[in-house]
Amino acid sequence: MRTLVINAGSSSVKFSVFDTASNVQIFKSELQRLESVEKAVEGIPALLEAAGITTLDAIGHRVAHGGSQLMDACVISDDVVAAVEDCISLAPLHNPPALAGISVARKNWPDVPQVAVFDTAFHQTIPERASTYAVPESWRNLGLRRYGFHGTSHKYVMLRVAEELGTPAAELRIISCHLGNGASVCAIERGVSVDTSMGMTALEGLVMGSRSGDVDPGMFAFLSRTLGLSPEEVELELYKNSGLAALSGAGNDMRDIEQRAGEGDKKAQLAISVYAYRARKYIAAYAGVMGGVDVIAFTGGIGENSVSMRKRICERFDYLGLIFDEDLNSAVKLTDSEAPQIQQKNSRVKVIVTQTREQWMIAQETSRVVRAAAMPPRHYPPIPVAVSAHHVHLTKETVEALFGKGYELKIHKSLTQKGQWAAEETVDVIGPRGEIKSVRILGPYRSANQIEVAETEAFHLGVDAPLRQSGQTQNTPVITLRGPAGTLQTDGIIVASRHIHTNPTDAAKFGFKDGDMVEVEVRNGARDLVFRDVLIRVNPEYTTEMHIDTDEANAAHIKHGGLGALIPVSTHVAQITSCPHGSNTDGSCKLAPVASAA
Ligand code: AMP
Repeated sequence: MRTLVINAGSSSVKFSVFDTASNVQIFKSELQRLESVEKAVEGIPALLEAAGITTLDAIGHRVAHGGSQLMDACVISDDVVAAVEDCISLAPLHNPPALAGISVARKNWPDVPQVAVFDTAFHQTIPERASTYAVPESWRNLGLRRYGFHGTSHKYVMLRVAEELGTPAAELRIISCHLGNGASVCAIERGVSVDTSMGMTALEGLVMGSRSGDVDPGMFAFLSRTLGLSPEEVELELYKNSGLAALSGAGNDMRDIEQRAGEGDKKAQLAISVYAYRARKYIAAYAGVMGGVDVIAFTGGIGENSVSMRKRICERFDYLGLIFDEDLNSAVKLTDSEAPQIQQKNSRVKVIVTQTREQWMIAQETSRVVRAAAMPPRHYPPIPVAVSAHHVHLTKETVEALFGKGYELKIHKSLTQKGQWAAEETVDVIGPRGEIKSVRILGPYRSANQIEVAETEAFHLGVDAPLRQSGQTQNTPVITLRGPAGTLQTDGIIVASRHIHTNPTDAAKFGFKDGDMVEVEVRNGARDLVFRDVLIRVNPEYTTEMHIDTDEANAAHIKHGGLGALIPVSTHVAQITSCPHGSNTDGSCKLAPVASAA
């Protein structure tokens, strides 16, 4: 698919053409010092024609802010344009040029499908506790929350790291450091963004070229009182005249700053140490958030090129399990999409450097959405939805510790899934705050304990049970189990991700693969609901059935069980390991009502 990517900013328009099937970039250009974005984009067809590119299959536009409504890349329609316009107040510098580019491109190429790819989309998975600012509710109702940016870059880095290590992103905790003129850090836990340093705007977080990053919000009133500055004036200074430029007094180019620092310039030295300190602080915080880190990845002009900055940032992280290798660090010379590792052999944490490829990623997202949009609408049989109340899966050793040496569980009844049964026995689950009595044990025995509760129950227990797929119990909180013969402390408490068990025959009917993500619509009258991010698990032994927990069932007004209508979602990005994010199957925007499959 021949895909034009347009990245329209206020001072430049970058554009590239990719053949996404062969993964080759066939054209690349950048127009600087623009008279206007409109004029620049109007000039693109002539430039492409001069390069022999006369046909396009799709166009992808980089859009900074998709707000809360535009949750994934989507085909551009008038509704989508209106929604991007709604986000202008959140991204006043970035969304207007993107909208100008979209408007001209829709006129230039009326018959070519066009897709908006949002910097914010990858961060839609950030949990509320990380996206919420502790400010009055009426402000939050205006959309004041953490959105995060550089999502396309962080997503690419995640996929590239996973590919390089030969480990699925779903098994990694990655801290992605995009250190360019704009800079952000992202905590990516098992394939999804769980926190990022940029916030409602692209001003929060790290020190940047000319942006301050984190400041005390109290300074607005202080500057107003002492200098008489308006909020707009303070904002402009924080965007344009702060960061490395303000600290160094010698511009924002890290190469010059490092040169001056080496020559003894105190301001340049301070700029470098503040920059590195802030990055270290975020990395340590995100390692804390994820209960550890497997990979720290560097990208962006500074992350890719500054040997000394990478070293400063990675110093004294031995307590995290990182042993840095200075020789490997110094040897990094990126020319293409290499992803060298710069830790010592015995380091548990890997450190990877790679060039970000936002344009390429936008082309991939665009072709994913356009291909999905071209799929003929399909109608699927309904799928049974079962409510999975709290339960535990235990090891043989745990059962013996709780019920006595040599004790064997007794089968109470068989469950829908072949070989699975509910035991007669129950245990009490005890947390630091509360306990849940008589939680059913499900057999057969497992190799690791797994305690599945709903989120409200995790609050009742007083533990922060993470949302996980079954079997992913690493790094989970410790709770106490009580049986008639004793108590035992164990990790393994999770809130189970919703999923569908299905077998190859049914999967073929639906056109799904193991690992796909789908949407399921449940219609119950008053509380109709669409569940997103439902994982497909295919196994010859499985009976087709969707499992949701009691919180989800209550939200959808399902008492014991019900029927759902499936809506598949394309999740795979060509040539690179699978990714957990998707868009509506028909490529339509998340604003559009999801079509019923009944
Ligand atoms: P980006 O926005 O990703 O293009 O990154 C631009 C930043 O990368 C600029 O501030 C440059 O100072 C920095 N940069 C580029 N090359 C080097 C280098 N060799 N050493 C240090 N910083 C560099």
